[in-house]
Amino acid sequence: MDDTAVFKLSYGVFYLGCEDKGQKNVCVVNTVIQVTQEPLKVAVTVLKTSKTHDMIASSKKYSVGIMGENASMETIRHFGMQSGHQVDKLKDFPYKTDMLGNPLIDEGCIATLSCKVYEEVDLGTHTMFIADLVDAHNVSNEKPLTYSQYRENRINGTKKETQSNEATQPQKEIWQCTVCHYIYDGDIPFEDLPDDYVCPICKKPKSVFKKV
Ligand code: FE
Repeated sequence: MDDTAVFKLSYGVFYLGCEDKGQKNVCVVNTVIQVTQEPLKVAVTVLKTSKTHDMIASSKKYSVGIMGENASMETIRHFGMQSGHQVDKLKDFPYKTDMLGNPLIDEGCIATLSCKVYEEVDLGTHTMFIADLVDAHNVSNEKPLTYSQYRENRINGTKKETQSNEATQPQKEIWQCTVCHYIYDGDIPFEDLPDDYVCPICKKPKSVFKKV
């Protein structure tokens, strides 16, 4: 089986915002889908070890910011590659609040959704939060960013950095987690990492990484 076949499923890229007992957090996901039309329901699947997961499980609400093609990789990295357990990602970062009190990031956002959890589905490593859509706004007419475009931008960005270093350093290989699509960007060559290395995002072992 070639796991990379699932990369061809088309997804968007989203800010997932939450607020629980006054605390706010935002992460980046590719797992928001519309599940019914009347009434409008959406779903998001969230890793159980993430802070966002526990906050949504407690508060039963979340916001979604749909990213456009011009969303900056830097902002995606800020919200997507750091854990809310370790960092207050909203400290010193401008945001608005939706009608449910969830944070909304302006940067690169083309539409927003406000969601009240209707049902939770336990999926082992993840929980799917199915929700009623209670508010929604279009912010711009820019085209939505697809997950495939995001992956390409990430890989091209890493290749460009590698090329600019080529004169002084050997060609760097690009390794990607096949589970969460995280791209390893450490200084140590991937193959030299210890056998107990785990993906910093989904915590899966080194063996799930593939060269891209
Ligand atoms: Fe991963």
